[in-house]
Amino acid sequence: MALREIRIEGDPILYKVCKPVEKLSDRQKVLISDMLDTMYEANGVGLAAPQVGVLRRIVVIDVGDEHGPYILINPEIIEQDGEQTGSEGCLSVPGKAGTVTRPNHVVVKALDENMEEQTYEGEGLLARAFCHEIDHLNGHMYTELVQGDLVDVNYDDDEEDEDGDTSEE
Ligand SMILES: [Zn+2]
Repeated sequence: MALREIRIEGDPILYKVCKPVEKLSDRQKVLISDMLDTMYEANGVGLAAPQVGVLRRIVVIDVGDEHGPYILINPEIIEQDGEQTGSEGCLSVPGKAGTVTRPNHVVVKALDENMEEQTYEGEGLLARAFCHEIDHLNGHMYTELVQGDLVDVNYDDDEEDEDGDTSEE
């Protein structure tokens, strides 16, 4: 298990457009594994490569459904419909959340960790995660979309009792 440092809002790497992956290198396989470790350690539901300083189109998502984790390489939203408005946060903007409207249903085409093309359908939180993480690959932060103000979030409310270490990285 290896954790990577999560880049925080203001870091220029978060505002750049990421390059596609052409052939998955051994380094990129390690990156994916480290991204999963880093996401779970931070109790996040998604993480994009630029958030750990790598400008490649790679995303990991786990919303706790039966499929997860999703590993998306060169993902693209090919269909979207409906609308949902709800609270959203980002590991690169720690301790904050804001209200964002997203499509309620999206279909995403991406390569998996074997570089095979897959199509995924997401509703609700999963649709939100797909949109949020793919935005990161294009240099966009959810804070650009927040309606009203960012609010402070107290993560202590979500503390899990079996986990004594809740420090935020
Ligand atoms: Zn984010």
